[in-house]
Amino acid sequence: MRILVVEDEERIADALRRGLEAEGFAVDVAANGTDGLWLATEQAYDAIVLDIMLPGINGLRVCKALRDKRIWTPILMLTAKDGELDETEALDTGADDFLSKPFSYPVLLARIRALLRRSGGERPTVLTAGDVEVDPATRTCRKGGEEVKLTARELSVLEYLMRRAGEVVSKPDILEHVWDFAYDGGDNVVEVHVSALRRKLGAAVVETVRGGGYRVPVVRTPA
Ligand code: CA
Repeated sequence: MRILVVEDEERIADALRRGLEAEGFAVDVAANGTDGLWLATEQAYDAIVLDIMLPGINGLRVCKALRDKRIWTPILMLTAKDGELDETEALDTGADDFLSKPFSYPVLLARIRALLRRSGGERPTVLTAGDVEVDPATRTCRKGGEEVKLTARELSVLEYLMRRAGEVVSKPDILEHVWDFAYDGGDNVVEVHVSALRRKLGAAVVETVRGGGYRVPVVRTPA
């Protein structure tokens, strides 16, 4: 899943990038509101962490501009300590959640996972497809109850496909949601990761749809 961080304080932005990348997210950072608004408009993010106090356009105005453009990416707003007005304004402007500074990283990560769940139709905390399970909180994958070691990127590809189980997802779409803006290679890298997933989890875990892309089949278990 791909996250945009809009934060001008370099120390916090770097820590957020490192923390989120360690959790397997692809992360882009914008250091001001103008760049943040542009990236959020041009790129497909799964969630945005948006600071309020920013040079250029402030976070509240970035949020409002995105919602005015009918861009509904979940937004977690970072507010100042004791900023009750900021908090109510953040939600009223269209943010989905807020967190006041200084914040704890485990809480921030949990809030982001909750936002990502809310954006889907069903909202399980653990994703399942047949006998394969992915837990986004612990970054683990199991098949038939046994843990299977995946690289962070393999897990992210599988998680993205599982969140859209039953849908055909194109390679560019996967690339956009799992790799960050700095990646400028081709989409062969997606094939490489899907091959690795099939090797580790069995060929049936991801289907190739001719001319379309990939699909994690929805397995209906009898009640
Ligand atoms: Ca700031």
